[in-house]
Amino acid sequence: MPEETSNAEDFEPPGTSDGPGQLWGKRVVDPLPQAVSDIENPQIIRIQKVPDAPNFRSSRPTVAFRRRFFPETTLTDWNDWRWQLRHRVRDRDSLGRILRLSEDESAVLAHPAKPLPMAITPYYASLLERDNPLQPLRRTVVPVAAEHFYSPGEMTDPLGEEHDSPVPGLVHRYLDRVLLLVTHFCSTYCRYCTRSRLVGKRNKSAFTVAQWERAIAYIEASPSVRDVLLSGGDPLTLSDERLEWLLSRLHRIRHVEFLRIGTKAPVVLPQRITPALTRMLRRYHPLWMSIHFTHPDELTPEVNQACERLADAGIPLGGQTVLLAGVNDNVETMRQLMHGLLRIRVRPYYLYQCDPIVGSAHFRTPVEKGVEIIRGLRCHTTGYAVPTYVIDAPGGGGKIPIFPRSLVGRDGEDVLLKNYKGNIYRYPDPGAELGSKEPIELPCH
Ligand code: SF4
Repeated sequence: MPEETSNAEDFEPPGTSDGPGQLWGKRVVDPLPQAVSDIENPQIIRIQKVPDAPNFRSSRPTVAFRRRFFPETTLTDWNDWRWQLRHRVRDRDSLGRILRLSEDESAVLAHPAKPLPMAITPYYASLLERDNPLQPLRRTVVPVAAEHFYSPGEMTDPLGEEHDSPVPGLVHRYLDRVLLLVTHFCSTYCRYCTRSRLVGKRNKSAFTVAQWERAIAYIEASPSVRDVLLSGGDPLTLSDERLEWLLSRLHRIRHVEFLRIGTKAPVVLPQRITPALTRMLRRYHPLWMSIHFTHPDELTPEVNQACERLADAGIPLGGQTVLLAGVNDNVETMRQLMHGLLRIRVRPYYLYQCDPIVGSAHFRTPVEKGVEIIRGLRCHTTGYAVPTYVIDAPGGGGKIPIFPRSLVGRDGEDVLLKNYKGNIYRYPDPGAELGSKEPIELPCH
């Protein structure tokens, strides 16, 4: 059985602390320095302080939603990411005012304990269909009874991350990179979350500065580590000050060549992508970002603007998507999503087979479905629009790419190749053996 937790998170969102003093309690560990650019380039003169204006374009449905359900709220408040965090929808009564709940949803929300709490930002709630419990976006964030059914092969830690964790909050599986889990908090909880064993849970000893310090010390002592991925929970729910503290400490480590952030904030909390945040992030280049997208309905004007700000700050953006039954498990939906991502300057990166997390059977598709989708994209559209379909092998085997077969064998001096229409072609490859034994599966893009 998975650990059960109260539906209500009983802790403060990490992004709502205002400054280092409040951040670290009485003890200022490494007070946030002045801007790094100021320290390294004392000749730089600040000409103008750019205001941290929210200024988000809102789509009509979002405006109508705000007026209906938050009539007292100004546009300025709505566009304040901290307001969004403070007003997340977290219980049945609040959600029931916004959506007509199905019996299943209502019964589950009335249950006091859940494997994963529910939380939905007002912005993301504005995208949910009031009368349709089967709407793809709604299914990804509103709990249902199926989460309480456990199927064979499901695990609380399917990727075996705890096994590869030399210090708490850090996963070191591949030689040259580490995964640094910096918070257990997300603005919106995905019902299929791989880390539901961690996220939304209160553990006073976890994700403290002391834990971060241990992880940083481990990275400093590991010269093979050239790439650090910050994840969680969602790192972009940290305040700018906390995030900068972490980035600056990691940026100082000589052998760390670049940093990455994994986040869903630009999608569920696009207001988080403020000019102040992007000004701060651009001080820590090379910095990459992997953004978790699920469905083309997420590609709103707000999300477009958030990604535009990140891309304009020089941050390469990659899209990560989990294949989910009844949500995005068909070629047309996936094509629309991938094309939409390219339009907002996000390069589709990974399509994940849904991990066998406990209570996720209703979300998992046969592996064949993922192959079918890749087959429907590959070569039918630009290669940039085709993510790599992977299974993160249960038990800690790492990501294993699944490719539709394209190298089908060998005939004498030729290798035999199958194109996207299923036609076989020859390519001269004299004196080689490739394809003569077991067929090898390779991508064609
Ligand atoms: S945003 Fe990521 S870490 Fe947070 S609930 Fe969703 S999948 Fe889990």
